[in-house]
Amino acid sequence: MKKILFAASECTPFVKTGGLADVVGSLPQALMEEKLAEVRVILPFYNEIPSEWKEKMERIASYNVKIGWRDQQATLFTLKDQEIVYYFIANDYYFTRQGTYGYYDDGERFVFFSQAVMKAFNHFDFIPDVLHGHDWQTGLAVAFAKVSPPIANLKTVFTIHNIKYQGKMPHQAFDDLFNLPLEHFSGFEWDGMINCMKSGLFHADKITTVSPSYAEEIKNPYFSEGLHSVLYNREQDLSGVINGVNTNDYNPSIDPHIAVNYSHSRVKKKDNKEVIQKEFNLSINRDVPLYVVISRLVEQKGFHLLEHIADEFLQHDVQLIILGTGDHEFEHSFSHIALRHSDKMVTLLKFDEGLARQLYAAADFFIMPSMFEPCGLSQLIALQYKTVPIVRETGGLKDTVQPFNAITGKGNGFSFTDYNAHDFLSTLNLSFEIYHDSESWKRLVKNVNKSQFGWKESAKAYTDIYESFNDAVTHEE
Ligand code: ADP
Repeated sequence: MKKILFAASECTPFVKTGGLADVVGSLPQALMEEKLAEVRVILPFYNEIPSEWKEKMERIASYNVKIGWRDQQATLFTLKDQEIVYYFIANDYYFTRQGTYGYYDDGERFVFFSQAVMKAFNHFDFIPDVLHGHDWQTGLAVAFAKVSPPIANLKTVFTIHNIKYQGKMPHQAFDDLFNLPLEHFSGFEWDGMINCMKSGLFHADKITTVSPSYAEEIKNPYFSEGLHSVLYNREQDLSGVINGVNTNDYNPSIDPHIAVNYSHSRVKKKDNKEVIQKEFNLSINRDVPLYVVISRLVEQKGFHLLEHIADEFLQHDVQLIILGTGDHEFEHSFSHIALRHSDKMVTLLKFDEGLARQLYAAADFFIMPSMFEPCGLSQLIALQYKTVPIVRETGGLKDTVQPFNAITGKGNGFSFTDYNAHDFLSTLNLSFEIYHDSESWKRLVKNVNKSQFGWKESAKAYTDIYESFNDAVTHEE
């Protein structure tokens, strides 16, 4: 069994801003439970980690990390939860701020984290075979591991969860922060900037991304955010592995956050809908279809389409709840649309895990018309709660949601192809019609109930990648 060290910037249950945290929180468990690999996880010690977790941590070591000419102190903590050993790297200057990212020096913060991960190898009581980095925040860790390996024979895997976010810094950062010989500059630079995502892609032994469709899409300039030629060069080492969800955690039959637990009962699901209608002053009617959005409110998620057609769609006897935070433009416009339709629509501008689960449980439909979507976990969580996803056919959405066809009776959701508001509206209208056509609806619900997105197969696919290093030829720079 291989020993794997995951390095990441977020992980449930400690800190979460999106799907990355769900994946880093659940894939190691799946690998461990199936005895496919021994996994440990290393994370930044953010201030916002709840104190119940901080209290359980033990300090292992403190050591210096050189960031250019400066010494920064890293303190390594650990805790064990559900058989998984987690490590946390603390530093007062970089990680005692509010929240996770969004600071002017995010690049530097993850230079520090990545260097601190390299030095943490001196203090582990296990010897990883593979360092598995996730997204730009750990691209540098993967790169440093290649350029000056912390231990012999360490292999690296780098997973792209979203290529849009790359961690770019002015090129002077190489001299100022990296303490590396100039010959390595080109492996870290892209388009005149230091680019953490590119650094990971260039140096990793294997690259994965979170769905087969996205693995194809990102070789194309429309999706690659400028990195297609880097990916094209690494094509042989790139594969797509679809994300799973933790089916023990996202489980409506035991989820403590929801009002009425259920497995397949639509009656009990409607009990949850009624609770939400009461809570948010919507008219109480169990038979009105409830549509929800639970998302970061950013352009990627296709909200320009929803902005365009919301007024028209709300002419139907439907209800719509939006839970999310993000760009001011969307927060503002969705709040305004909700004011115009106060009996039918509510906009809740916050990040609230418990409420999100109540909404997944209460809803009939989950809306996700993304412009692009590497995998998307929300539609998978919706399916776990027997809620019908309505998505645009892109990336992982295309790989997990099949459009319902009333004639063949196949499909577990609704989808549309072009990024076009009227196609989206027609798809919403179709969902409304099917909801009121009891035969079709019954059939659709049956398909939704059968949809399974646990980790079993994908965990096996990751193991195949880890095991492939046994006698593989390592990527040459
Ligand atoms: P992304 O990682 O691009 O944000 P995903 O669909 O992969 O999108 O994952 C989003 C995760 O974040 C899901 O677990 C979703 O339920 C959760 N989430 C998004 N917005 C909120 C919110 N406002 N409150 C609670 N959970 C949220």
